[in-house]
Amino acid sequence: MEFSKIKFAALCLTHNCNLRCTYCYTGKKLKKSMNFETARRAVDFLCDNSDRSCIVTFFGGEPLLAFDLMKEIVAYCHLEHKGKIKFRMSTNGTLLNQDTLAYLKEKEIYFVLSIDGSEEQHNKTRRYLCDTGSYRSAVRLLDEIFEFNPYTPAVSVVVPETAIYLASGVQDLLTKGFHYILQTLDYSAQWREKHIKLLREQYKKLSHHYYEKILNGVKIYYSPFDERIKTHAQKRYDNGDLCDLANSQIAIAASGRIYPCVQFIGTDNQWHQKHSIGDVFNGFDDSRRRYYIEQNYSEKKSCSGCALEGRCATYCGCVNWRATGQLNHIPPIICEHERMLMPIVDRLANKLWSKNSELFKRKFYEKTFPISSYIEDCMVRKGRRDAADSKDQEL
Ligand code: SF4
Ligand code: SF4
Repeated sequence: MEFSKIKFAALCLTHNCNLRCTYCYTGKKLKKSMNFETARRAVDFLCDNSDRSCIVTFFGGEPLLAFDLMKEIVAYCHLEHKGKIKFRMSTNGTLLNQDTLAYLKEKEIYFVLSIDGSEEQHNKTRRYLCDTGSYRSAVRLLDEIFEFNPYTPAVSVVVPETAIYLASGVQDLLTKGFHYILQTLDYSAQWREKHIKLLREQYKKLSHHYYEKILNGVKIYYSPFDERIKTHAQKRYDNGDLCDLANSQIAIAASGRIYPCVQFIGTDNQWHQKHSIGDVFNGFDDSRRRYYIEQNYSEKKSCSGCALEGRCATYCGCVNWRATGQLNHIPPIICEHERMLMPIVDRLANKLWSKNSELFKRKFYEKTFPISSYIEDCMVRKGRRDAADSKDQEL
């Protein structure tokens, strides 16, 4: 078996975090951070094992707690590996300030912001150590964030206790100015029949909202709908499409140990180390790496013959692993969720198709849509800026 070159890597800068989210999978928060020597070896390793370029996401814990290290890594790469690595970040947003934002902007380090939905929803799960909600600090710089990158995605996780807020939470994020919402359930939570019923109602409600927006030409991306429409309109998932853990995407712990994906790092203790596939000092352990890739690519027996095979979210091995302990065993909640959601999404897509929605057709059937849409948006923004400038001059 031939291994892929690395395309995506998450660099866990620290195991520490200022929040204690209820669904966090990174384990106990420890004041354990990567040192510069390990970081240097990590980026050298990534450059040696990737083709032309590699996307590296600063991860944690909360990576902004290791902001100085982040700056050192970026400076080192600029000197030694210019243009080879593109940096990204996943942050809870609470530690962003004008200085960090200016730096991220200067270095073009785009990031995703973890915001679950409305204030009430977010504060149920994303809380400080002192047990207060983190919503206000997470959203306080949204104007500046969108000024830097209007496409900044909100990453939202839904747990059984917040299922009731799903529709209003997404609407709230759209009102706040997010265009991209990446949402997932916490599949390892205790989901019961009543929660699935609740989710069905919430998705239905949201599908009306999505319908109106798309029909009116408002560009939004909501992953639970968009991804499932895509697998109908374009192509079904194949192995590695959703998740190519241990192969073209890996994660590196603060210690320098390499893991198949961030979900395996935890606190990087003895138990987690069983899942390590090498380290940045000695390279990959090929047989361990091969084991995880083969497991991830292997047949999902319970799905064989199902009409939704290739359309549902069973292709994310780490999600399966977290919920069942096996990369190719599908947790019942995924199956139930997909069977409930897919008909809602398909009905929504059929309605937009039969209404001849121009945006819907461009979005899902035009290959050049991401580029043409981006150019359009830039022109609209430029138009707005010019209008504001000429108004200023008049005054
Ligand atoms: S902000 Fe991220 S790392 Fe910190 S507790 Fe929440 S989910 Fe975990
Ligand atoms: S709906 Fe269930 S059985 Fe069908 S592909 Fe999805 S997880 Fe497998």
